[in-house]
Amino acid sequence: MNRQLLTILIPMYNEEEVLDQLYLRLLQVVDEIPSYDFEFLFVDDGSKDRSLEMVQEMRTFDKRVSYISLSRNFGKEVAMMAGFDYAKGDALIIIDADLQDPPELIEEMIGFWEQGYDDVFAKRRHRKGETWLKKWTAKTFYQVLQKSSRMPIQENVGDFRLLDRRCVEALKQLRESQRYTKGMFDWIGYRKKEILYDRDERAAGKTKWNYLKLFDLAIEGILSFTTVPLRLSSILGLVISGASFLFLLYIVCKTIFFGESVDGYPSLVTVIVLLGGIQLIVIGIIGEYLGRIFIETKKRPLYFVDVYNDRKEENSGKREERSVRERVKSPL
Ligand code: UDP
Ligand code: MG
Repeated sequence: MNRQLLTILIPMYNEEEVLDQLYLRLLQVVDEIPSYDFEFLFVDDGSKDRSLEMVQEMRTFDKRVSYISLSRNFGKEVAMMAGFDYAKGDALIIIDADLQDPPELIEEMIGFWEQGYDDVFAKRRHRKGETWLKKWTAKTFYQVLQKSSRMPIQENVGDFRLLDRRCVEALKQLRESQRYTKGMFDWIGYRKKEILYDRDERAAGKTKWNYLKLFDLAIEGILSFTTVPLRLSSILGLVISGASFLFLLYIVCKTIFFGESVDGYPSLVTVIVLLGGIQLIVIGIIGEYLGRIFIETKKRPLYFVDVYNDRKEENSGKREERSVRERVKSPL
């Protein structure tokens, strides 16, 4: 019987501080699962440090290591897409390079995959090492997104998951350039299974996210999955026009029965300014969608590959693997 191949997809951007540790943790996990072949597919998202060289070094002694190096930094969403395109496995496991996703969970994921689940995702029980502000913003965001898109977008679920080949094939067809992958996992459907885990703190290095980027991602999530903001704009318009019409009737009656002395300049200005503001917001919302249409109609490729190196069929030895083990002094 042919052995099945599992791809472990690792998007990385400036992760030189954690790569050795990650590789060793992965080795430990993979050693426990002898019934499958593995491919470690690193997607170097335009790192400026030694990340790529380190992967190249791994490759010299581990045939399972392959990598794609993108021509510049495209962001994690696109890096993952590149991984989907190049992954060879019958299933694919996405894992962050920073060891926030414990690789030990992979074995459990594979167990559920064998039971016939297509998408086994890890849900965070706790968010360690994150401020209450980040937790709160994340929570609110999910609520807004779920309510407005009428889709059960999973809360507290990252990209750490196992995808069956057919999920990967489905995701490969969603080639929009403004990507919100978390929503796509739900959108494609298939049989899903949730497992709970505790998200660790970063093993080393710094997060690539800041609040501006997260805000961006949040907007992306909403705009790429729903047109509810447009609907809200129309409703707002209706409400305001309705109210102004009633107000108009009132003014007319008042003028007829009680006469009119010209005052109320301040209220006039307030109303004009308020309406002007609302109009600008609504135009802004329309503009956001229009901008997306503009970008999508260009149909640009999502990324360019600088170097791609395949998983090798021949192995050249275990000696250097030991040297990596020695280089990582910290207890795992
Ligand atoms: N990443 C990437 N490209 C980017 C930013 C991040 O490939 O432009 C990778 C990064 O190397 C890591 C994963 O995406 O493997 C998650 O990034 P990070 O840990 O910074 O995000 P957080 O865990 O804070 O959400
Ligand atoms: Mg992280």
